[in-house]
Amino acid sequence: MVKQKNERVALVTGGSRGIGRAVCLELARAGYTVAVNYRKDREGAEQTLQEIRSLGAGGSIAGFDVRDESAARQAVESLVSEQGRIDVLVNNAGVTADELFVMMSREKWDAVIDTGLNGFYNVTRPVLERMVVQKSGSVVSIASVSALLPNRGQANYAGAKAGLIAASRVAAAEVARLGVRVNVVAPGLIETDMIRDFPRKEIKALIPMARIGRPEEVAHVVRFLCSQEASYITGQTIGVNGGMI
Ligand code: NDP
Repeated sequence: MVKQKNERVALVTGGSRGIGRAVCLELARAGYTVAVNYRKDREGAEQTLQEIRSLGAGGSIAGFDVRDESAARQAVESLVSEQGRIDVLVNNAGVTADELFVMMSREKWDAVIDTGLNGFYNVTRPVLERMVVQKSGSVVSIASVSALLPNRGQANYAGAKAGLIAASRVAAAEVARLGVRVNVVAPGLIETDMIRDFPRKEIKALIPMARIGRPEEVAHVVRFLCSQEASYITGQTIGVNGGMI
């Protein structure tokens, strides 16, 4: 299918649920054709795609593990060859595997760094190759307040997310003159599966707004950063955290 000139294309990693699904729907509302990535939850990704279509937007499923460099490159290349372009990448896929650092296994360390930081490399690198040729595009990655606060048990997660922020800032500077923007959104606590087991009362006490955020509240900021309204914003990290820092 040949794309209309104004039809913009987005790829969202981890779009099967939580923040990623909210980002897919927000981008669909903004008129993007959205490729929904997932790793295990095919049903969740299909549900997201169905909701995208019910908003009148186009979309597709792009199942791959962001830890797998060649699978990520292949998925980006086939998306670009099908759609003719890529305008937005949202690096949202992430996992936690909490443990006090002194007891942290190599497996837990690697699982979180491989997804959060190496996954960012695996997907962003081929996408940026295309965007610099197009001379347009926007990459937004989802970090966390944990990159900036010492949350005990999250040395792996903080390392991945802080690495994402630092790497994004450098990539942003490198591609800024080529019409490509790279930014980060750092959420606080957001109501998704990831914080399912967190004790509500205790975590609300850490948040000045005294409530947990909604995935849509992150998605709105992602959509804004991708839009023309944010045309002079690059290399930035925007907190969405109810005032936590
Ligand atoms: P969820 O656990 O609800 O969803 C995680 C998503 O990431 C799922 O779609 C999952 O896919 C996908 N995913 C995980 N590993 C991989 C992989 N290797 N390859 C491809 N996809 C993968 O998490 P949230 O929605 O809460 O989190 C989204 C992002 O926001 C993460 O980066 C997280 O670190 C960050 N964040 C979340 C906060 C929160 O409080 N919820 C706070 C701050 C940051 P599948 O379903 O197929 O397994």
